[in-house]
Amino acid sequence: MPIPILMYHQIDEPPPRRSPGRGLWVPPARFGRQMRLMHRLGYRGLSMRELMPYIRGERSGKVFGITFDDGFHNVYQYAMPELDALGFTATNYFVCGQISGSNVWDRPLGIRPAALMSLAEMRRWHEGGHEVGSHTLDHVDLLRMTPAEARRQIAHSKDELEQLLGVPVTAFCYPYGSQDASHRMMVRDAGYANATITARGLARASDDPFGLPRICVYCGTGTLGFLRKCLTAHEDRWRQAQGLFRP
Ligand SMILES: [Zn+2]
Repeated sequence: MPIPILMYHQIDEPPPRRSPGRGLWVPPARFGRQMRLMHRLGYRGLSMRELMPYIRGERSGKVFGITFDDGFHNVYQYAMPELDALGFTATNYFVCGQISGSNVWDRPLGIRPAALMSLAEMRRWHEGGHEVGSHTLDHVDLLRMTPAEARRQIAHSKDELEQLLGVPVTAFCYPYGSQDASHRMMVRDAGYANATITARGLARASDDPFGLPRICVYCGTGTLGFLRKCLTAHEDRWRQAQGLFRP
């Protein structure tokens, strides 16, 4: 069964219309409605760690993946209580060099700065049953790095997060979705178990576990659009059209 892995960034009131990157904010009330809707339909939202057996076909059930990129404080503030109330878990991909910092990498794009989780918040996220994944040390575009620097960004971020938390970190997400086959191999060799990209689609057993597609939920994604993204084969038809579909 193909499984949707949702991709969110910030859960907060979006900046004014036409602001750069506005689509990546989802208002807290809307996020809450989306989660409660899936819950009412009998679905359970899971972190990547808990979702992988379902993707591999070892377990079956009505599940979907929940991921957040970048480790924003507003996810801790607004999304975590909603997830906890429903018994859902999620993965947040942290930028190791910016814990307690802000999304400095977004500044050149004119995107409004926002606080990232502190170390204490990241630990509470983890202790609450949610997953801490890595999003490199500095939110770099791996395709623009030398192989040695790409490897450092991938492997050292894992080591540092593991030292901070005292548990294995097995989920990775490529900043900007930017990667090639060599980066996927570096992620595997570093000891991660899975990695997500930004390509659209439902995840399936035949997918490379180090290149799992996701479904981006935008600020303007309404209830119907959300359901269509999650529950229909629409995304798979799109993949088929792009020649990305492997049954
Ligand atoms: Zn990111």
